Amino acid sequence: MSHEGIRIAPKDELAQEAEQKRPLARIAITPEKVRVLMTEGKGLEIDWADGHRSAWSFAWLREACPCATCVEERNQEGRKAGQPRPKPAAVLPMYTPPPKPQSAHAVGRYAIQFNWQDGHSGGIYSWEYLRRVCQCTECTFSETETTGTPN
Ligand SMILES: [Zn+2]
Ligand SMILES: [Zn+2]
Repeated sequence: MSHEGIRIAPKDELAQEAEQKRPLARIAITPEKVRVLMTEGKGLEIDWADGHRSAWSFAWLREACPCATCVEERNQEGRKAGQPRPKPAAVLPMYTPPPKPQSAHAVGRYAIQFNWQDGHSGGIYSWEYLRRVCQCTECTFSETETTGTPN
């Protein structure tokens, strides 16, 4: 592997855009096993048909809700998917339990939906979305490597 990707050039930016819109291979967005670790309160784990494995905590997923309202809220606050909202500097910090879904169910063959304990349930997490926001070291590394350039 070379380190050519570190070079900054307008050409690379174009390549980046193409990269983001690049359709993922079908096997990369086909889950072989989906585990919702509800009782453990841990999160979601997916084994993909291409052999990749992804895992997300419920807290992360809640903050990555792909519904229009949450996406807009995150855009306005400049938060990335999964990034927790800034805590207000409270005098007496209140304990907020980490987000957990009350239930989860498949939406057709393409997505999973969570009914969060806070009453929110509008987000449909498609397999493609989840694969794109995979939090494994490999995926997050390649993300920071291509998009982590300061403006
Ligand atoms: Zn939402
Ligand atoms: Zn990954």
